[in-house]
Amino acid sequence: MKAVTVESIPHYINGEKVEGKSNRYGAVYSPSTGQKIATVAYATKEEVDETVRLAKKAQIEWAKTSVGKRVQVLHKFRQLLVEHTEEMAQLIGKENGKTISDAKGEISRGIESVDLAIGAPHLIKGEHSVNVGGDINSYSMKQPLGVVTCISPFNFPVMVPLAMSTMAVAVGNAMILKPSEKVPCSALFISELWEKAGLPSGVWNVVNGDKDTVDAIITHPDIEAISFVGSTKVAEIIYETGTKHHKRVNAFGGGKNHMVIMPDADIDKAVDSFIGAAYGAASQRCMAISVAMPVGEKTARVFTEKLKAKVENLKVGTYDDEHADFGAVISAEAKQSILQSIDDAVKEGANILVDGRNPEVENNEGFYLGPTLLDHVTPEMNMYKEEVFGPARIIVNVDTIEEAIHLINDHQYGNGVTVFTNSGSHARKFTQEIEVGMVGVNVPIPIPVGYHNFGGWKGSRYGEGQMFGPDTARFFTKTKTVSERWFDLDDKDSETNFDFPS
Ligand code: NAD
Repeated sequence: MKAVTVESIPHYINGEKVEGKSNRYGAVYSPSTGQKIATVAYATKEEVDETVRLAKKAQIEWAKTSVGKRVQVLHKFRQLLVEHTEEMAQLIGKENGKTISDAKGEISRGIESVDLAIGAPHLIKGEHSVNVGGDINSYSMKQPLGVVTCISPFNFPVMVPLAMSTMAVAVGNAMILKPSEKVPCSALFISELWEKAGLPSGVWNVVNGDKDTVDAIITHPDIEAISFVGSTKVAEIIYETGTKHHKRVNAFGGGKNHMVIMPDADIDKAVDSFIGAAYGAASQRCMAISVAMPVGEKTARVFTEKLKAKVENLKVGTYDDEHADFGAVISAEAKQSILQSIDDAVKEGANILVDGRNPEVENNEGFYLGPTLLDHVTPEMNMYKEEVFGPARIIVNVDTIEEAIHLINDHQYGNGVTVFTNSGSHARKFTQEIEVGMVGVNVPIPIPVGYHNFGGWKGSRYGEGQMFGPDTARFFTKTKTVSERWFDLDDKDSETNFDFPS
């Protein structure tokens, strides 16, 4: 095995790379090789306090900069993201394990949120009404909040930080990003691009760390808003603690996304769609399809047979293997937890159709799991109830569309869902009645494009305000309404009115 050089990942504060002072470090692994590739410094409360102080100072000047000038920095940033796509994709692959082609897809979706933020001048335009009464004009303006934070997960090292933060910066806030400690290299790379793009020092900062660092951030009195993406368990804590400390919070959690296959669906198209949406990125996507729900016995039989044949042929491999359909999972612990879920489901009576527990991979020191498919899974099993963030997917059979809707609506998560059908009336019923935030009709992963709002329901999101889309501009600004009157200097009449104007 080739020895790797382990680098130390610093924070990025006030335009500089800053070595951590805590003497607390995390290990960063390459999932493809299982080797430690870096250590990352965990920030202390004092380091967080200092970052907030510097960001607060920088934000005042940044907010005074015209929105047009701010957006010019974003134009340059976008260009740099495009120019450095190859380098970034390699970095994502190395620290996250996803394939290079998938990493490039993630970067291009991230760039979409920069495109949206370039439209900030339009999105933060206020409203103006003339002569609302007694020569009074009324207008509103959207102002930045101040210092805001984003806390991001491991599964999209570039796309999620960009989706969460670019609009925040564009509308005049200073940002403190706390990336996942498992993928800190990409966040540092993004920081370098912001610097090259000419963003003033202190407007963009990255503090690395774990729970202790997050606690210092979300309770800090000068942090105005928190945008969190990660597991539901943590989303709940962030929402409760953040709002208790009077912050605006949106916290996006996990999912258990179903694909309902109606008897009138094109089964081959449904199978092909399921494969990519369910196993891509080793199923480590919050919008990955994890449950296939064929309606009726015949649909189940045909769908399962065709699906099994395709799943058996999927290939897991290193992030730079051009023939791999997906890569390793993020860590040895994640692999262990997925294996446990599969074993438990089998003990409870599930039938393992494709068993990926011992995949053959050239570099088997990595955190690999092969494609796994189980049927005879029932709604009572943990495998159905909980999010399983890895390539073990399940089939749950139902008899009617009503039963499918009922089960999905009863589920604790409500991130994404899709129905495959050729019937307009089935599609209409499904989209109307389903209790899920993002719904597809013959679209396997219904992630809205950058200029539409993104967000789940139920346990998949706490708080208001969505990610991507115009809602991001609303989340990161506050509205001020001004009522304004100018007196005619020749008019000497004056009166006092005690009544509420009718
Ligand atoms: P995670 O919840 O373990 O970590 C997310 C962030 O929270 C990280 O920055 C981590 O350092 C921090 N954190 C972890 N434990 C904490 C604690 N106890 N207190 C405070 N902070 C803590 O999530 P993950 O494993 O990195 O990411 C995978 C999860 O994210 C999955 O559940 C996935 O569905 C979800 N996700 C959701 C969306 C969405 O848009 N809804 C998008 C991507 C990922």
